[in-house]
Amino acid sequence: MIIGIPKEIKNNENRVSLTPAGVLSLVKLGHTVLIEENAGLGSGFSNEEYQTVGGTVCHREEVFKSANLIVKVKEYLESEYQYLREDQMVFTYLHIASNEPFAEALMKSKTTAIAYETVIGKNNSLPLLTPMSEVAGRMSVQVGANLLQKTNGGSGLLLGGVPGVMPADVVIIGGGTVGFNAARIASGLGARVHVFDVDAQRMAYIDDISNGTIHTIYSNEYNVRNALQTADLVIGAVLIPGARAPKIVTEDMVKEMKEGSVIVDVAIDQGGCIETCDHTTTHDQPTFTKHGVLHYSVANMPGAVPRTSTIALSNATLPYIIKLAEYGLDALKQDEGFLLGLNTYKGLYTCQAVAEALDKPY
Ligand code: NAD
Repeated sequence: MIIGIPKEIKNNENRVSLTPAGVLSLVKLGHTVLIEENAGLGSGFSNEEYQTVGGTVCHREEVFKSANLIVKVKEYLESEYQYLREDQMVFTYLHIASNEPFAEALMKSKTTAIAYETVIGKNNSLPLLTPMSEVAGRMSVQVGANLLQKTNGGSGLLLGGVPGVMPADVVIIGGGTVGFNAARIASGLGARVHVFDVDAQRMAYIDDISNGTIHTIYSNEYNVRNALQTADLVIGAVLIPGARAPKIVTEDMVKEMKEGSVIVDVAIDQGGCIETCDHTTTHDQPTFTKHGVLHYSVANMPGAVPRTSTIALSNATLPYIIKLAEYGLDALKQDEGFLLGLNTYKGLYTCQAVAEALDKPY
C-alpha cells in the first residue's frame, strides 16, 4: 500500500503523524511511505532521517495524489478538502461531531474516514487518545509550577518546598489519565497532592499504586470547596465521555481561593470543569487572571511539546496503521474496536455518536 504523511498546516501544529521509526516498520513490510517535504521538522525529524529508513520525501500534491491511505494528526482544514476522494482512506483525529463543514466534505467526497478518537481498545479504553492525556497531565504540573513563580504572576511558591518550608498544596479534580499523570509528577516534585474523584475503584488504585503518598478524596461540593481554600495549584481533569465537562469548581469557590494561586483546566477541550475557565487560551497568550487567581486553559497542550507528543502518538497509532496497510478495510472487520473508529464511508455516517451529534441518519 502507498501511505501518505502530509505536513500539518494548522496554526502552531508542529506534530507529524509518523516518526522515522514508524516509516521503517512499514517499509520493511513492503509498503511505500510518502512524506511531505519538511513534515517532520517541527518535531525534530529531518527529511534525511525519513529517507535513510526508506521513506520517499516529496511534494504535498504528490502525497495526496498517490497515497491509498493518508495518515494525519489534525482534521483537514478547508484548503485541504480538495484532496478528499472516494478511493482514499483517511486516518487522523477527525472531531467531526463539532465540525460540520468537514463532515459535509467527507460525505460529499465519499471518503473512508477513520477517527483516532473513536477507536476503542481493551477494557473500553481509548488507546489513541490516552497518549495525549498522558502528555497533558504531566505537562499541567510543569505549567502550574512555572506560573506559581512570582515572576510569572503567581504567589511565589516553589512546588516542592525546601527543608523547613512546607511544599505547595496541589488539588487535582478527576483521577483518570490526565489526573493520575499530573499527580505522579506533582508528587515526584515533593508537593502535597490530593486527587478528587467519584470512582471508588479508581481512587483505590491510585492509593494503592502511590503507597498512600497521593491522597484521594471523594469529589463533592463540600470537600472540593474546603480543599480549594488552601490550594496553591488546582488542576481540572474531569471527563464524562461524550458530554460537556460538569462544572465541579464554581466561581464562588474560586473567589475563596488564595491570591496568586493557579488553576490549570486541562478539561477545557470539553468545555472545562472550572466555571471561571470560560474560554480557551492559546500557547501565545496562555493565561488570564480572575479573582486574583491565575488561570491557564490551553486546549491543545500537547502541541507545546511536539517531539514527545509525536513519538507518543506514533507509538499508539502504528499498530493500527500497519493493520490498514496490510489488510485494507478488512482490518476493521477483524477488530470490533477498530471498526468503531470508522466515522464516514461511501457518503454515509457510520459512527452512531457522531451521527447523533450532527443530527444525521446513521
Ligand atoms: P479520563 O476518562 O481518563 O478521566 C476522567 C476522570 O474524571 C475519571 O476518573 C472520572 O471518574 C472522573 N470524574 C467524573 N466525574 C467526576 C466528578 N464529578 N468529580 C471528580 N472526578 C470526576 O479522562 P482523561 O483522559 O484524563 O481526560 C480528562 C480531560 O482532559 C478530557 O476532557 C480530555 O479531553 C482532556 N484533555 C485535554 C488536553 C488539553 O490539551 N487541554 C489534552 C488531553 C486531554
